[in-house]
Amino acid sequence: MTLNVSALRAAFPALAQEVHGRPLAYLDNAATTQRPRAVVEAIARFYEHDNANVHRGVHALAARATDAYEAARAKLAAWIGARSPREIVFVRGTTEAINLVAATWGRKHIASGDEILLTEMEHHANIVPWRMLADAVGARIVVAPIRADGALDLDAFRARLSARTKLVAITHVSNALGTINPVEEITALAKQKGAHVLIDGAQALAHLRPDVAAIGCDFYAMSAHKAFGPFGIGALWAREEILAAMPPYQGGGEMIRTVSFEKVEFAEHPHRFEAGTPNVAGAIGWAAALDWMAKLDFQAVHAHEQALLEAASEALGAIPGLVIHGTAKAKAPIVSFTVKGVHAHDLGTILDQHGVAVRAGHHCAMPLMQRLGVPATARASFACYNTHEEVEALAEGVRAAMRMFALEA
Ligand code: PLP
Repeated sequence: MTLNVSALRAAFPALAQEVHGRPLAYLDNAATTQRPRAVVEAIARFYEHDNANVHRGVHALAARATDAYEAARAKLAAWIGARSPREIVFVRGTTEAINLVAATWGRKHIASGDEILLTEMEHHANIVPWRMLADAVGARIVVAPIRADGALDLDAFRARLSARTKLVAITHVSNALGTINPVEEITALAKQKGAHVLIDGAQALAHLRPDVAAIGCDFYAMSAHKAFGPFGIGALWAREEILAAMPPYQGGGEMIRTVSFEKVEFAEHPHRFEAGTPNVAGAIGWAAALDWMAKLDFQAVHAHEQALLEAASEALGAIPGLVIHGTAKAKAPIVSFTVKGVHAHDLGTILDQHGVAVRAGHHCAMPLMQRLGVPATARASFACYNTHEEVEALAEGVRAAMRMFALEA
């Protein structure tokens, strides 16, 4: 089945606009996707009809808000193959999910001399919390390298696993290279050494159907806004037995059973990790995004995105002086590139003048930029609603930038 891209686009009001007099080509989906109207409407409906705080009220609106919030948890659990909604902790996003694991499970289980195995392609969200933990407890960060094509060097990864490895924390999909990591295989290797595994799923949700049971990992971190949902909401999935034994994260309302000045009894998971008023509207909007995604044929999405990736790689690859960073076989539709003689930020600014929205910078992956030997790249990242005309606009914009810099294009 082929994807009806124009019907898809019609669901996204933000896509139908001009920027600097040109049709918008929104190619910054790895930073955040656009949201379908259904998500915006679900949030508006909640605020117009059901707005109340959750878990605390006895009145009708509070009951409706609580039901909708908990239904969103169940929907996400089912979407990612969790055994129970109790395995889903709502947080602000991937960053908070990883910080939660580092601050609770990490503080309890990682000690001096232990190793945390990361890779060269990690986002700062999957580096900094571990660096902070390692500094606090005297643990060691070990880094598995990538190959020249941007794929993880699996042999080197295997060689860096040891009896001291307590945790492997790795991205499912690299935001800066597009590389899709073989997370099932990586998890199996880590488990042979007795290590726990955290997967940073920020970039996976919009393109893949991650199944935490099939992966076999222990933690999976997500952000709704990277997969058609609202800002300010994300989730940590963790195996129920791990969550049940994890100490609390932040303290406050919602996460307790009883409180006195002398003693606090904590609530069970997942509420033990959700101190304070949660982002109720965000969870409801996320559920609407999952409903919208459930109508997509993911095989058709994959085929369309791969065709866009191939077309963009070919069109950009044909430009003299342009280097694509990340050409692994398994890739999400993300193309990071540099042009000799033009700074990535200038490329981004000139592309914007052509209505083409890309990201330029280090993509919160400074160690990766160092490995690539560049200060920054320009990055075009596609979603299912992007078109081949937008790929052409991207290539034309890059050629225009090169002409401005008096470079052959
Ligand atoms: N991990 C990866 C691979 C990402 O691409 C991002 C965001 O760009 C994050 C983590 C952080 O996500 P958030 O800012 O939604 O917490």
